[in-house]
Amino acid sequence: MQLTLADIHAAARVIAGVADHTPLVPSPFLTAKTGHEVLLKLENMQPIGAFKLRGALNAVAALGDMAKGVTCCSTGNHGRGVAYAARERGLRAVICMSNLVPEAKVNGIKALGAEVRICGTSQDEALAEAQRMVADEGLTDISPFDDPHVIAGQGTIGLELLAARPDLRTLLIPLSGGGLAAGIALAARQIHPDIRIIGLTMETGAAMHDSLKAGHPVEVIERASLADSLGGGIGMDNKLSFAMCRDLLDDVILISEAEIYHAMQVLYYEDRIVAEGACVVGIAALLNGKVALDGPAATIITGRNLDMQLHARIMAGQDVTLGDLHLPGAPYEGAP
Ligand SMILES: *Cc1c(COP(=O)(O)O)cnc(C)c1O
Repeated sequence: MQLTLADIHAAARVIAGVADHTPLVPSPFLTAKTGHEVLLKLENMQPIGAFKLRGALNAVAALGDMAKGVTCCSTGNHGRGVAYAARERGLRAVICMSNLVPEAKVNGIKALGAEVRICGTSQDEALAEAQRMVADEGLTDISPFDDPHVIAGQGTIGLELLAARPDLRTLLIPLSGGGLAAGIALAARQIHPDIRIIGLTMETGAAMHDSLKAGHPVEVIERASLADSLGGGIGMDNKLSFAMCRDLLDDVILISEAEIYHAMQVLYYEDRIVAEGACVVGIAALLNGKVALDGPAATIITGRNLDMQLHARIMAGQDVTLGDLHLPGAPYEGAP
């Protein structure tokens, strides 16, 4: 299946009024720091606190009336999007997640009335459970990133970005399974062929980065990360998102956990925004000189569904321990 710009315009009509048109705001701090205008697309303002509602609404709408219900594996935000979309249509939803998913995300999904299954320590184990729900209970599995309707839904962000600012030169996109980057890149490149599109992800367990390097999907060992939403594999039988990221992204850049920690402090103290570690990889790349700009740039603040105790610790500059990840504290110099 080949996705086109028309599919993304169709998705925009499906999600209109529920998940569209988040604010695009300037970051005066990053603009001063880089010497180029830096804009933030605030997907943390979505009704579920993350952009994944776009793809989930579009995918659930495509199911038709015969669907018995939906299931998915998720690092948390896709599950929340699917639960929200299923509730709107009165469908049963079973969300399968590994025990790496933070409790704040699990609780958000339960609050939407979905059933939650916690299975194992990896996204692959969660996927196996979702596939069992398909076989045993006739539910429809919605991939978090490797589904044409999901990719088209996430791509609506690209339409909004370039409609608001046709002069954007660089897009910095947090990257995990690649549905977000593939959708935005497809839309943006059709509208503006020479825009530069960069995927950003964490150093540990960067499945898409390692797969692009290898030239085919590879498995990674999942580790705890401040960017938990970027965890998980891309699927060894990946059909769409791998090829789209390979063909559409200019580069993929890795960000360390310490750089994520610091960038979360910058986003909070300078721009007054509470967001997950996954959101700040673009900001971290700019702060650490990993991407040089040549004109206006935008990054996606993808979600805000994090444990607020963890957020408070980082803002206070305290040590952080997440599973086998130990980060030494580092107070922010601009903190009050
Ligand atoms: C899912 C997610 C991403 C990455 O999206 P992919 O389509 O898997 O690449 C980034 N940030 C947040 C907050 C997410 O939930």
